Amino acid sequence: MRNLSKSRIIAFRQCPKRLWLELHKPELRDDSASEVVFKIGYQVGDISRTIYDPEGIGVTIDIEALGHGQALARSAILLTQGNSPIFEAGLKIEGALAYADVMLPDFSNGTLRWRMIEVKSSTGVALYHKDDIAVQSHIAVSSGLILSSVLLAHINNAFVYQGDGDYRGLLREVDLTEETLSRGEEVKQWIAEAQLVAALPEEPVITTGVHCTKPFTCGFCSYCNRHTTHPDFPLKSLPNLHFRKREQFEADRYEDIRDIPDNLLNPLQRRVKQCSMTGETFFDAEGAAADLATLGFPAYFLDFETASFAVPIWKGTRPYQQIPFQFSLHRIDEAGNLFHDAFLDLTGTDPSEALAQSLIDQCGQEGPVFAYNASFETSRIRELAARFPELAKSLHAIIERVVDLLPVARNRYYHPTQHGSWSIKAVLPALCPELSYAQLDGVKNGDMAIEAFKEAINPATTLERKQEIEHLLLEYCKLDTYAMVRMWSIFRGSNLSESHLSH
Ligand code: SF4
Repeated sequence: MRNLSKSRIIAFRQCPKRLWLELHKPELRDDSASEVVFKIGYQVGDISRTIYDPEGIGVTIDIEALGHGQALARSAILLTQGNSPIFEAGLKIEGALAYADVMLPDFSNGTLRWRMIEVKSSTGVALYHKDDIAVQSHIAVSSGLILSSVLLAHINNAFVYQGDGDYRGLLREVDLTEETLSRGEEVKQWIAEAQLVAALPEEPVITTGVHCTKPFTCGFCSYCNRHTTHPDFPLKSLPNLHFRKREQFEADRYEDIRDIPDNLLNPLQRRVKQCSMTGETFFDAEGAAADLATLGFPAYFLDFETASFAVPIWKGTRPYQQIPFQFSLHRIDEAGNLFHDAFLDLTGTDPSEALAQSLIDQCGQEGPVFAYNASFETSRIRELAARFPELAKSLHAIIERVVDLLPVARNRYYHPTQHGSWSIKAVLPALCPELSYAQLDGVKNGDMAIEAFKEAINPATTLERKQEIEHLLLEYCKLDTYAMVRMWSIFRGSNLSESHLSH
């Protein structure tokens, strides 16, 4: 019988085939998404040690250094003694094993019991967390431990970091003792069934479905869908498709939006369907020009890049708060002259106040400030105003001038290659084929920008690499605002020449 880890048992809960593939054909898995989650979880794990062991007397079981055998043996000794908190304590029964994030000895009734705490980087308790902690509790209890309580600690997103490494209050505990300890028989059954699947000589026959993305996106999707033919315009190409309507379309076996009767679609969806059928572009040039005609000069075009941290690193910030570290700002005057300004802080200190001041300085006093999906930019500026009251008046004045280009694009323009999306990255290739994010080196989207930023502020990053990242980030963000300039120019019916708009 194999020793199935807790994560393998949870994988089985999602899909027995996933468990089988993880055990027998792990090379088929694409793991890029889960790596990012691991990095965040690791930070939260570090901080939980300072929260639950402020005196630093606890023992962390280093699984990588010890290997499973020694890690389990060392844990067993420490769990018998109960002298100190244990982090990553190994727990094992026949056929299953788990490592508990935090085990705190509890002698409150005169005998050794344990408070078991599972730490999650989420901001709430999900159903799969409860399964996860039920598996772990079952293994702990079946291995002979007495649990006085079972808690799940998740990120408290109302926590505001006050600096000096004081993270008390970062984690919010939820007591799951009663609920968890009553699920032993259920978990026993899961382990037995998972063992049967693990022993199968061939992968189980299971077709793809909603379970492939819930609660996690399965890393074997490409493999399991390798023989599936995809329609040219799948249901996800329909904008604003309510999930109930989507389910209805799927039940009625509509796979391509071109087959859906018009009377089942709203006007925008009908337009998307029509363009998909004809291959033609919809462009209400008059309407777009009218939308923008009354907005004067100078015109500004603003885009932020932001980063967030599960464990906030800067004083005055919350977990997962989107903190702008960069902006790009194009400005065009009435004569059609184009200027570019930018802000980027890679020092690793809080960029917020300097960014806010720079934004005020560079946005001038008048003229529209165009953004794309502008509620993101206005929310960030509002947060900056709340953090820096002395800059609030000037920042609110900028918010008053913000104009969203997205509704103009959505109402006036559509090309079939957009596939139901009006993100700037979907519209730009259709509107300005000569401009492309693909031509950029290294940083081509928001997620890559975040990763690049985090790499740049890491003290271990060399100056040379930091300079390279700086260049990549500046070029990426500049293209975002230049794309807006081009879009604005085309929508406005402007006679500005290409040389004017050269960036
Ligand atoms: S992609 Fe879907 S069917 Fe395939 S292993 Fe994963 S969850 Fe199971």
